Amino acid sequence: MNGIKLETSLRARSVLGYRRAIRTATPPILRKASSTTENASHVCDVCIVGGGIVGTALASALSTSSLKVALIEAGNLFQIPENNGNTYSNRVSSLTGSTIRFLKQIDAWNAIEANRSTPYRTMQVWDAIGKGKIQFNAPPGEEAIAHIVENNHLQAALVSTLTASQQTKIFNQSKVNSIVSGPLKHGGYGWPVVRLEDGRTIQSRLLSFAKVGADGANSRVRTFAEIDSNGWDYAQMGLVATLRLVPTDKGNDTAWQRFLPSGPIALLPLDNEHSSLVWSIPPKLAPLLRSLPEREFAEIVNVAFTGSWPDLQFLTSQIGDDGSASANFVEEARWSRKRAAIGEPKPPTIVGVQHKSRASFPLRLRNSESYAKSRVALIGDAAHSVHPLAGQGLNLGIADAESLAEVIKEGIEVGQDLGHIHLLENYTRARFTSNLAMMKSIDSIGKLFGTENGPVVTLRSFGLDVTNSMGPIKDRIMNFAGRSII
Ligand SMILES: Cc1cc2nc3c(=O)[nH]c(=O)nc-3n(C[C@H](O)[C@H](O)[C@H](O)COP(=O)(O)OP(=O)(O)OC[C@H]3O[C@@H](n4cnc5c(N)ncnc54)[C@H](O)[C@@H]3O)c2cc1C
Repeated sequence: MNGIKLETSLRARSVLGYRRAIRTATPPILRKASSTTENASHVCDVCIVGGGIVGTALASALSTSSLKVALIEAGNLFQIPENNGNTYSNRVSSLTGSTIRFLKQIDAWNAIEANRSTPYRTMQVWDAIGKGKIQFNAPPGEEAIAHIVENNHLQAALVSTLTASQQTKIFNQSKVNSIVSGPLKHGGYGWPVVRLEDGRTIQSRLLSFAKVGADGANSRVRTFAEIDSNGWDYAQMGLVATLRLVPTDKGNDTAWQRFLPSGPIALLPLDNEHSSLVWSIPPKLAPLLRSLPEREFAEIVNVAFTGSWPDLQFLTSQIGDDGSASANFVEEARWSRKRAAIGEPKPPTIVGVQHKSRASFPLRLRNSESYAKSRVALIGDAAHSVHPLAGQGLNLGIADAESLAEVIKEGIEVGQDLGHIHLLENYTRARFTSNLAMMKSIDSIGKLFGTENGPVVTLRSFGLDVTNSMGPIKDRIMNFAGRSII
């Protein structure tokens, strides 16, 4: 018996690289002991609060383990509205190669219909007030730099893998009301108890938050987890919309991003006639651009991509407080486009915007001081949020889910207590530093391109041109960003 204990303990050290191997006092909860009625208290190994893409990705990754997993989601996971044909959701993400490899591993990628995922092979990035530009191409052997996927289709694909495996208990349309520490258990650790609004309770060995603790200073999530987060709100909103384009013979497989002093504007391909817009704008402009008439909106977006910075500033000053445009708005915009600088990248011309597809979101930078505490792990936007200029937020969150699932599975292998901080610290170690490095780079790029200071503009343009001419440096940038930088 002692021999077995010793062997397990040594394995724990080698597999997890830990100095202290913590042995669990109880095995993962036995399935036959777990049958619950809807109203009874539910007991599980891992409880995931928040069934957004990151929470459902973690649940899917754990659905092949022997663990009892509960997923709690306030919204309706069984009726996620999906789009058909050439109408697209305004919330899309650019998924990197590493994210797609993980989605394939958990069988979620196949469920995304081929025609709802758009690979892009080239990416053009340029400076609106300097002359610098850089072009990225898909690395040799890779089909694309990244794929654009609608968030609702991705989430629906993840839910369908979950329901197929029948391994996860989904608390659908269930809102968490409070979280407390339960009575002390084996080894002196109380398991978290989650109470839903309808009175049901869920008790688990490990609680994973995949929902943002954004319920203000008195956040229940933060109060329970006692994990502080640092960061700030950018003085910007992310305006999204689905745009109609003039189709071209060359097809639409390029992502475009132009850095304006007020923030970047990006065009992500969907099909030959549609692209998705992500435009970082000052907050006071958001309601005006959301209600600007369609034709005027299409024209101002064209100017933002191809016109001069003073022309764009002039046009925005021509929008009334009610979102109406001045009489000459369209003519002024077209005039500005005709004067577009020679040699600048030429993104597709925008002719319209899909009905009701305009929306805006506050942009912020946040990072939690740690991603884990005893019995608690934070993943996705619950752990961090970044500016969308590099299209990395969801990719980082999915990488968190993959990493936490691996740590949990390694814990099962060596018989460790899944909620023990010594196990969960492995997850923080795996993700914290690399997320922070990415967050710092994204924030620095935003700041570098947010200035109109002459010497800085000259230097950054020079830097872009030099980088553009050096293949190996571009490859390193692509690798750092998981083979995608939008
Ligand atoms: C404009 C914009 C563009 C972006 N573009 C990209 C991109 O191209 N690529 C990229 O990688 N990332 C992008 N991002 C970031 C990405 O959208 C987010 O990082 C990602 O959606 C976060 O997913 P999540 O599952 O962690 O959180 P969320 O999507 O916020 O999910 C949290 C879930 O928790 C649920 N919930 C909340 N409270 C409760 C409660 N009390 N009880 C139960 N459930 C609850 C919610 O209903 C929700 O479903 C972009 C972000 C913005 C704003």
